[in-house]
Amino acid sequence: MELEKLTAEERLIAEQAVLNFRSLNKACDDAKDGTVLAVAEKLAMIQGRKLIQQTLQTSLELQARAIEKKSKVSRACSCGRTKAHHGRKPRVVMTSSGEVCLSRVYFRCVVCGDGGFAADGRLGIHGRYSVEAERLVCLAAASWSYDVSSDRLEEFCGLEIGDTAIRKISQRRGAAMNA
Ligand SMILES: [Zn+2]
Repeated sequence: MELEKLTAEERLIAEQAVLNFRSLNKACDDAKDGTVLAVAEKLAMIQGRKLIQQTLQTSLELQARAIEKKSKVSRACSCGRTKAHHGRKPRVVMTSSGEVCLSRVYFRCVVCGDGGFAADGRLGIHGRYSVEAERLVCLAAASWSYDVSSDRLEEFCGLEIGDTAIRKISQRRGAAMNA
């Protein structure tokens, strides 16, 4: 891998990985005897989760930009006319790797008024939570109460999801399975 040939996105990811490694080594240097592993594994996990979140968000953004540039797909309206660019809107999606914030273009037909986010269709975004995040929520809620599920999801996966949201997701998914 030649560093000077990296794209802007690749460079940011590479720089973050190196910065993480440096701060991890610094934390190890500063740790008291007998605590290096304990200090390092905690920090490495926090850093790793953030880096996964960052790479995931960047990859999704690249996919969103690519589909938005394909005007035959993003601007085609079912009425036969062309949809117009109606600005960008951000959306926060809770994934199994934590929250990602995506900006997407809203395309709207000037004739029939039909509109939508082409990026959401391409990415498979249907709401606040990803399918995989909902799967983890249901798995937790099948074993524990909603408030214990909330604590364990944070402990095990670093996911901050409140007990009310866990109840709603697991009841909705349960109802869909029984339908
Ligand atoms: Zn139309």
